[in-house]
Amino acid sequence: MAIAVSLIEEATAWRRQFHSQPELGYQEHQTSRQVAEQLRACGLQVHSGLAGTGVVGTLENGPGPAIGFRADMDALPMTEQGDVPWRSTQPGVMHACGHDGHTAILLAAAKHLSSSRNFSGTLHFVFQPAEENLGGARKMVADGLFELFPMTAIYGLHNWPGLPVGHLAINSGTMMASLDAFEITLHGKSCHAAMPESGADPIVAAAQLILALQTIPARRLSPLSSAVISITQINAGEAINVIPDHVVLRGTLRCLQQEVRMKVRSMIDAFVTTLTAPLGIEGHINYLSDYPVTCNDAAEAEKVRDCAQALLPEEQVHWGINPSMASEDFACMLEACPGAYFWMGADGATPSRPLHNAHYDFNDQLIGPGIALWATLAERLLPLG
Ligand SMILES: [Zn+2]
Ligand SMILES: [Zn+2]
Repeated sequence: MAIAVSLIEEATAWRRQFHSQPELGYQEHQTSRQVAEQLRACGLQVHSGLAGTGVVGTLENGPGPAIGFRADMDALPMTEQGDVPWRSTQPGVMHACGHDGHTAILLAAAKHLSSSRNFSGTLHFVFQPAEENLGGARKMVADGLFELFPMTAIYGLHNWPGLPVGHLAINSGTMMASLDAFEITLHGKSCHAAMPESGADPIVAAAQLILALQTIPARRLSPLSSAVISITQINAGEAINVIPDHVVLRGTLRCLQQEVRMKVRSMIDAFVTTLTAPLGIEGHINYLSDYPVTCNDAAEAEKVRDCAQALLPEEQVHWGINPSMASEDFACMLEACPGAYFWMGADGATPSRPLHNAHYDFNDQLIGPGIALWATLAERLLPLG
């Protein structure tokens, strides 16, 4: 699969430009406009405005089935610490997950395929907003993605630090964990710090609850089940000598199996109310966002693996890998349509910084292999008659 050097250079320029102008979820107005313009310039039919800033470009080329390729466009609310020449110009916003790279790769694949046209069928290039905890994929599905653009399968790519460039990793089932972000409020009764008997201390209740929650994965689940509960924020109190009237805890739960997820959620709910009640505290939990487990369709995952094996040396295609405990919004598309999600290596001679790290920068060496992978998938899954 030969990808023109000039196209890789063009995609690299787009990637760096996207990096310099990061936009948060549902605010990807400029990125979305540029994606739509570029797709139109390649002769695709373009539908803008799905889920707000989402864009779908359609490339029809003769009879055959329709399939979809997805990229995500949003950045994170973080301050970039790196000093690359294309560093973020938006204070407090940065592309720390490589969605700038995914978008540039998919745009370049659309450009490549619109001129090579070495396939028969229809390709939908899906650019989604708000992957980072804001449910852009779910919103695209709810707004009719698969009714407006019927397709037999959809595929998603993510760059993956820890895996060398030129490697691809996928398996036949679970790739990423479910995510439940929650907020727990513990209501007590404020009082003088010297007279705790006249109030109900939500801080002590919070301390007990935080430790008790860790006993769920450690003591209540089989060691062979996978679940991780992390309390990441604690907010309470104003004065050093006053017991406050409430504490707010925030955190996340991640699981690899839906049954485990439901079991743990009900245990957390029970702990919040029953563990704190004897302390005179009223506990409430509110789930803020949730993503299902990202689970590949076995047959679609095998197709991606076979394409990767056609493109890459055997030892660079990893099958049956351990899933990640991170989560992915693409799971919502996989619930609605068969498909597969895969990782492409991001480590060059120097290993990539981790995803969501303030020094992270997408590795442009992955652009060529990424375009080639999308083009190979299109050509092998939609073969010319
Ligand atoms: Zn991310
Ligand atoms: Zn990401």
